[in-house]
Amino acid sequence: MSLDISRAVEVIRSASFLVALTGAGVSAESGIPTFRGKDGLWNKYRPEELATPQAFNRDPKRVWEWYVWRIKIVLNAKPNPAHYALAELEKIGLLKALITQNVDDLHERAGSKKLIKLHGNILEARCVSCNYVVKWSQPPSEIPPKCPLCSSLLRPNVVWFNEPLPEKALQEALDLASKADTMLVVGTSGIVMPAGALPFIVKDHEGTVIEINVSESAITPIADIFLRGSAGKILPEIVKMIK
Ligand code: NAD
Ligand code: ZN
Repeated sequence: MSLDISRAVEVIRSASFLVALTGAGVSAESGIPTFRGKDGLWNKYRPEELATPQAFNRDPKRVWEWYVWRIKIVLNAKPNPAHYALAELEKIGLLKALITQNVDDLHERAGSKKLIKLHGNILEARCVSCNYVVKWSQPPSEIPPKCPLCSSLLRPNVVWFNEPLPEKALQEALDLASKADTMLVVGTSGIVMPAGALPFIVKDHEGTVIEINVSESAITPIADIFLRGSAGKILPEIVKMIK
């Protein structure tokens, strides 16, 4: 393992355009449950019953109850050493951009600046009629919440299954993956598309993929270096060796 970390450090140091892609695993050590894997949210809830536009149309109150529970967890969570290490990599000029599938705000709070949020923001809601956006500093007390402008339903401002990604964020992510000579992939199962395709774009033009995950993922077969372990332990180690 330490040999692999040294290799990863060398690749990162000599990268000319390093981009990172993160998933729920990077926030696991902050106490935010992942969707899949051990202790994943999906073990307790069926995604197709909650994270889809169909589910919301059928029963907005039930979907909002689940989101209120998740919003509370995010508001009470703090960035962990993995978030800080990624922010540090950007600060020292090595990391050019961070693409995240996470809907929490821990990368922002840790200080990451060039951040592309592919799946929206769980601390926001938007009106289903007029698209007005509300930001939560605490979870909504009235469920389901209503738009302050037009009284229509508010929905979580996140991307659900069967929904397209925000166009600008997706385009930016695709451009970054095309430019990246190295991609650091952290804590993602790699099965949610199109995010999971980004490391394959890097491989297509002979870039290098470094993966950090506690277990193998859909990305592992194409990873040039696979670092098995927790992001909160491995990323700070890498940054320490680089500095
Ligand atoms: P996922 O739940 O499908 O997979 C999590 C991955 O993280 C797994 O491969 C797991 O092995 C790995 N992992 C768990 N703990 C880890 C750790 N400490 N260090 C390194 N790796 C660890 O997550 P995903 O791939 O991001 O799935 C996509 C969907 O999940 C996204 O749409 C995202 O919006 C949503 N999601 C986000 C959050 C969040 O914002 N924090 C939480 C749950 C789900
Ligand atoms: Zn409205």
